[in-house]
Amino acid sequence: MTTKEQPKQERLGAYLSFPAFLAIVSSSVEVFKKETLGYLIGIKADNKFMVEYAIPYQTAESTATHATIDEGRVNRVNDILDKLSERLEYIGDFHSHTVYGECPGTVIPSDTDLMSTVPGELNIICAVNYKKRAVNWHETSRGILAGTVGEYRIEIGGYYVAEAHIGRSYQRVIVKCTSVTGIHDD
Ligand SMILES: [Zn+2]
Repeated sequence: MTTKEQPKQERLGAYLSFPAFLAIVSSSVEVFKKETLGYLIGIKADNKFMVEYAIPYQTAESTATHATIDEGRVNRVNDILDKLSERLEYIGDFHSHTVYGECPGTVIPSDTDLMSTVPGELNIICAVNYKKRAVNWHETSRGILAGTVGEYRIEIGGYYVAEAHIGRSYQRVIVKCTSVTGIHDD
């Protein structure tokens, strides 16, 4: 069974703050070659998500192939966010994909990812692989934020499922982080 990217419609964008970018990359590298899992806090507007914070779950069951979290934790986070901030809300989650045997990690959602995707939420995948050569942080033509840091090559891709449906199609969300685009790795 293959996954399918839907034809281009109105492209959605995810704008990462520098702290959110830093948390996604550092938590993904920290547990390499296991996978990290966390949630995204920010603002959802028309056709875009402003990601202010990315917070790793402390007790995600992490293995090389998949990280899981129980539903109760998501509800507890939502409860306290309601009380702490009127502006910010839970807007989605992120997890990492890493090297597994000979297979490099990619930003493509797995079948398991798509089965557990909540329609309407932003999903971010951070792929961590060993770097072959240094590249500056840039946005690829597919809307993926990519760059190298230390000995790693990092790719951050977003996806979105508009409504519950049978099948495995999804929409790519363009990931941008203007404070890192163009940063040199040397
Ligand atoms: Zn995944």
